[in-house]
Amino acid sequence: MFKTILVPIDMYAESIPAQQLTVAKHFAEADSGKIIVLYVMPAIPGYAQSALPSGTHESVLSEAKKKLEAIVQSAGLTGSAELVLLEGKPARAILDYAEETEADLIIMASHDPNITDYLLGSTAARVVHHAHCSTFIIRKLKD
Ligand code: ADP
Repeated sequence: MFKTILVPIDMYAESIPAQQLTVAKHFAEADSGKIIVLYVMPAIPGYAQSALPSGTHESVLSEAKKKLEAIVQSAGLTGSAELVLLEGKPARAILDYAEETEADLIIMASHDPNITDYLLGSTAARVVHHAHCSTFIIRKLKD
């Protein structure tokens, strides 16, 4: 049913990426689907970039890549999931990438219920509203 499963992860959201990848594995195994794990690094504005020491951008990208690999490895998906690192605005980049890859399922997580009454955070809300494919939202529970 789902052949291309896009899993945009907020790498800094504690245990949530692991839960997303568990759900992704479940769907992928059911139908020989492909999993793409995506992290969108918010772009550093031009004015700030010029104030940073040279090489900062490359080292931030390289750290993010390592962290992405570690998360995918601990989910037991090394070699079977594609890893993608993009820069830009998370919701826009996720929507564009879903179109580009013809993803038929996007797996995300809801907002942290400890800090708001809203079910969805802004990234998840924009993707759910505008995606041209199915979306699966993992409900975060109160601690
Ligand atoms: P919150 O404000 O609670 O973090 P968000 O809507 O920003 O809510 O995040 C919910 C989901 O959106 C995450 O679980 C993840 O799937 C996706 N997401 C958020 N930020 C990013 C990002 N930088 N890269 C990829 N996915 C992201």
